Amino acid sequence: MVLDKEESVSLVSLQSREKPRGCAGCNGKIRDRFMLQALDRYWHEDCLKCACCDCRLGRVGSTLYTRANLILCRRDYLRLFGVTGNCAACSKLIPAFEMVMRARDNVYHLDCFACQLCRQRFCVGDKFFLKNNMILCQLDYEGDTLVKDDVAPCRVDV
Ligand SMILES: [Zn+2]
Ligand SMILES: [Zn+2]
Ligand SMILES: [Zn+2]
Ligand SMILES: [Zn+2]
Repeated sequence: MVLDKEESVSLVSLQSREKPRGCAGCNGKIRDRFMLQALDRYWHEDCLKCACCDCRLGRVGSTLYTRANLILCRRDYLRLFGVTGNCAACSKLIPAFEMVMRARDNVYHLDCFACQLCRQRFCVGDKFFLKNNMILCQLDYEGDTLVKDDVAPCRVDV
């Protein structure tokens, strides 16, 4: 099992008497005056990069994140492994990389975004109604004889 890890990057200078160290990124020797130290290994300043966006992680004081053998910048880590929020229909967490449907302040799994009475799914541009946080299709909404307040017709947009 791989645990999430947050690591800080530090810049270290090579003492002239020391043997050059191997870079954990390219396996070459580091002959530069400065190198980066992170994850208990040494790196060329150019070799410590985010696996997603290729940005250099060697800025002083920067933080990197590792997960499943990926080295990521904070932005990509949150994008991939953060969470969007709880699905308003099934109330389970939605990971940030998943596509979601949004309706007002709520987010839904794509699979959960359906009329909560007849389970009809919506397509982009379809009209749906939100009533007491319940999603309703137009038919069920109009067949509802209860007081029609707190209802906002919305359009599906992704
Ligand atoms: Zn290198
Ligand atoms: Zn990145
Ligand atoms: Zn859900
Ligand atoms: Zn319905």
